[in-house]
Amino acid sequence: MPRYFIWTIGCQMNKAESLRIASYLDFLGYQVAPSLQEADLVVLNTCVVRQSAEDKVLGTLGLLKGLKKEHPNLFILVTGCFVDSNIEGLKRRFSQVDFFFKPGAYTELTNWTQLQGISTAAQEIGPLTSPSPCAFVPIIQGCNKFCSYCIVPYRRGREVSRPLEEVICEVKGLMKQGVREVTLLGQNVPSYGHDLPSNPDLADLLAELNSIDNLARIRFLTNHPRDMSRRLIEAMASLDKVCEHLELPIQSGDDDILKAMRRGYTVEQYRKLIRAIRYHIPQISLSTDIIVGFPGETEEQFEHTSSLLEEMRFDVVHVAAYSPRPGTIAGRKYEDNVPPEIKRKRLNKVEQLQANIAAELNSAYRGKTVEVLVEGEKRGKWHGRTRSDKIVFFENKDDCTGQLVEIRIEKTSPWALQGKVGYNN
Ligand code: SAM
Ligand code: SF4
Repeated sequence: MPRYFIWTIGCQMNKAESLRIASYLDFLGYQVAPSLQEADLVVLNTCVVRQSAEDKVLGTLGLLKGLKKEHPNLFILVTGCFVDSNIEGLKRRFSQVDFFFKPGAYTELTNWTQLQGISTAAQEIGPLTSPSPCAFVPIIQGCNKFCSYCIVPYRRGREVSRPLEEVICEVKGLMKQGVREVTLLGQNVPSYGHDLPSNPDLADLLAELNSIDNLARIRFLTNHPRDMSRRLIEAMASLDKVCEHLELPIQSGDDDILKAMRRGYTVEQYRKLIRAIRYHIPQISLSTDIIVGFPGETEEQFEHTSSLLEEMRFDVVHVAAYSPRPGTIAGRKYEDNVPPEIKRKRLNKVEQLQANIAAELNSAYRGKTVEVLVEGEKRGKWHGRTRSDKIVFFENKDDCTGQLVEIRIEKTSPWALQGKVGYNN
């Protein structure tokens, strides 16, 4: 039986797309190879959001060039944000690659497999299979925002929403395989639906999903603050299956930097939004993204970000050092003039500050009983997440994957909680 290996880096969207490609290859009769070197077909699902990610892609393409020399029948496919619109140029640069396809371009993938004689007919990509009780469901591709630093809109194109009925149908199909929690995905999920004929919005989709029997939990990410409407916040507050967790990237705590980033809001507007969210959903746990070392960021402007983090007390902060991306507005307009060692210092400072905040927030769970949806086992311990997206580890003799269990928390760290089964409040 032929074997495949899917190499994935980047965001949840890439992980979801890789699972979809894996389901399709399983359907065609392929088996998973234990490593890239042992596969007959390799898919690279790529990310170029930062130079460090692009370097990993280039390194793996180099490795595959050598493998292809040894095994000329090896198929190499490349998808994800590395694939720009100049596919002919990519083919010339990377002659070892058999097929480039844009993220989510599954019809092109099925046509290619037919052309190669791998499949007998150009068919639908087929039903998605989920190895976990928690599944990712992409609902919107692309982004219309054009933040000045970001390459995503150039690589993933403009927003295209999946029809609401198609999403519901997919979720019901996943539930037949034991899925209990879905995370709706997109670069900017709250703008879901504006391009569909009947203009449904994310609140409509959440309400439809909430009425599905046996589905336990619904999450969605990620969210541009400008598109977080009051209607959506109220839907989150009133729909019992929608978890009390929200990813709301702020990127900087300084108004001038936010303006140069073209984020379209001020710190005060963001603050007001958080106030409204916390008022309607007091239990909400919040995650954010920060970029340090954006062109021209002074020490004082960075301090505005630090003090905002202290004020907001997010549960999770994803921090990245600015990386100039060719073709973006910032890449063209601004010099990357914050030295690497200053970027690193600021990044470390944010990480340290956030570790302290997360340690404090998580310690409040000690002695409490939380509901955990069990996702699997790792090194002798079961793990799952709370509705607030905290990772919880515990011991149990029986396999409880897919179950909702009550765990009394005994130990906490900035990154996870540990506890015991079966205690009640
Ligand atoms: N759509 C989301 C939003 O509104 O912020 C985020 C999606 S973006 C692909 C994921 C994260 O990558 C961003 O939140 C940002 O922090 C980071 N990122 C994007 N471009 C970057 C760049 N040029 N340098 C450093 N980090 C970057
Ligand atoms: Fe990139 Fe901004 Fe779109 Fe997020 S909202 S994907 S940061 S352009």
